[in-house]
Amino acid sequence: EAKRLGRRRAQPYLPGLAERLAERQHMIDDLYDAVQHGGFALAFQPVIQLSNGATTGYEALIRWNHRVRGWVAPDVFIPIAEECGLIEEIGRWVIMDACRQLAGWSPHLQVAINISAAQLKSEALLQHLTQAIMVHGIAPERIEVEITETALIDDAARTAAMVRRIRKIGIKVALDDFGTGQSSLAHLRDFQFDRIKIDRSFVVRAGTDRQSMAVLRGTVSIGKELGVLTHAEGVETREQLDLLRDIGCDAAQGYLVGRPIVPYHDPIDSGDLPLPESVLRPIAATLA
Ligand code: C2E
Ligand code: MG
Ligand code: MG
Ligand code: MG
Repeated sequence: EAKRLGRRRAQPYLPGLAERLAERQHMIDDLYDAVQHGGFALAFQPVIQLSNGATTGYEALIRWNHRVRGWVAPDVFIPIAEECGLIEEIGRWVIMDACRQLAGWSPHLQVAINISAAQLKSEALLQHLTQAIMVHGIAPERIEVEITETALIDDAARTAAMVRRIRKIGIKVALDDFGTGQSSLAHLRDFQFDRIKIDRSFVVRAGTDRQSMAVLRGTVSIGKELGVLTHAEGVETREQLDLLRDIGCDAAQGYLVGRPIVPYHDPIDSGDLPLPESVLRPIAATLA
């Protein structure tokens, strides 16, 4: 009897599979709709320089405003957009809107834009970047594109060429989530980056875990050797911030410094309001 049940359980029927596929298809339909009718917004999270607490710029983080689900996080819809081929259009909007908003900020501020693997493989990326720069009259040095290690894995020669071409325009390139992918060190050898963003997982454990601390110190040291900025992600406590500054890390980002915020926008008359610098001043004052 047990054997019979076991065999039955092994049947390739998954309850809810049809429902899950239908839901996924709904999501794809809604994504198409959002691309056509503008269902996205950019949240901005501040980046500070650890030497003096000054804000150097903001990372643009996409949100999808879904009529039923509310705000949807990128980890949920970006992978789907990549699979169904919508990422290029969404990525184009992100680049254009980030540059549009950047044009209204103080000229010393930068914007960081996340680029997915599929975008990096397409020539269109260069067109989208140069077009946004021209339309909004922006110095290319004020833009930094963020690439994750997983985007570098396949076709390394081609992606390395793309990274070189992006940097040739004057746009900066950052390696995102450093330390979580495969062959992280090989990427530092084979690609030229302007910034290394050390993954949050190392920062979280920095105060308590010798291994994480060693990786942090080592990465900061490699960054200095290479002349590449080091940047800690996911800084949530004052202890983490002080520790990172003590080991010579250049920049920090995280909830302690500021959460991602969608700037208030009045559709009728004004443009986007400036970001709340006042929120950042207390931290800057203690670091300076
Ligand atoms: P990421 O580029 O590594 O961005 C950092 C993520 O960590 C963001 O999540 C941010 O809200 C979150 N975060 C920041 N500080 C803290 C902190 O102190 N603690 C914790 N627990 N989390 C923190 P978010 O906005 O949900 O974005 C997730 C990922 O989605 C991003 O990771 C990025 O890979 C991707 N993404 C976001 N926007 C875009 C986009 O416009 N295009 C593409 N292709 N990917 C995007
Ligand atoms: Mg990023
Ligand atoms: Mg990251
Ligand atoms: Mg990430």
